[in-house]
Amino acid sequence: MTDSRPSKWAIVNYWATSPAGHDVFAPHLNIEDPCCFACGWFSERWKSGCSTRKAWERARLERAHIIPAGIGGSDKPPNIILLCTPCHAEAPDWFDPWEMATWISRRPDRPSSEMEQLATWIDAFNEVPQFMGLLREMGEEEGSEAAVVAALRRSLNGAVVHGGVGLRKATMTAIVRRAVAEVSGSAYLPSLPLPRSGATTA
Ligand SMILES: [Zn+2]
Repeated sequence: MTDSRPSKWAIVNYWATSPAGHDVFAPHLNIEDPCCFACGWFSERWKSGCSTRKAWERARLERAHIIPAGIGGSDKPPNIILLCTPCHAEAPDWFDPWEMATWISRRPDRPSSEMEQLATWIDAFNEVPQFMGLLREMGEEEGSEAAVVAALRRSLNGAVVHGGVGLRKATMTAIVRRAVAEVSGSAYLPSLPLPRSGATTA
């Protein structure tokens, strides 16, 4: 199977140099900063240590047809935009480009991958009440802060980053829980079956 669609770089160059439709189909596009055309999502990592062209090619963005290929949409750059995975999954598949334009104009901005990971870490910390307890104790005991950070680091080594999308919240929660167990000397694994929803194990 050959992929007849143009490269991401070719798509970006088309939209960056084609004022007609740029504001409508690629409102977030700035050729220097790879991002989702519809929501502006990006990762700091894409640009590190490589050319702009390479950064666009390595960016976790998908080539999305404006008019779907299945109903005759062209594989040429004027019919293809670059979207992040959630935008691509939710964008309209419709014969009239007007629907895509309207959808893009209403699409909320998405923060960077790094900001999303940070927000997810905070959620994960909040899911482990014992960790919040440890945080409170930190101020009182000399060296406890370093011990918690070291335990989190060791715990992190057990995690696998899934497909480059960053750590999932469930993985982060496991990391935090294991670090708490190490620092507090308690059992890491609670006995099964686990209580459902809302209940926490002491
Ligand atoms: Zn997006």
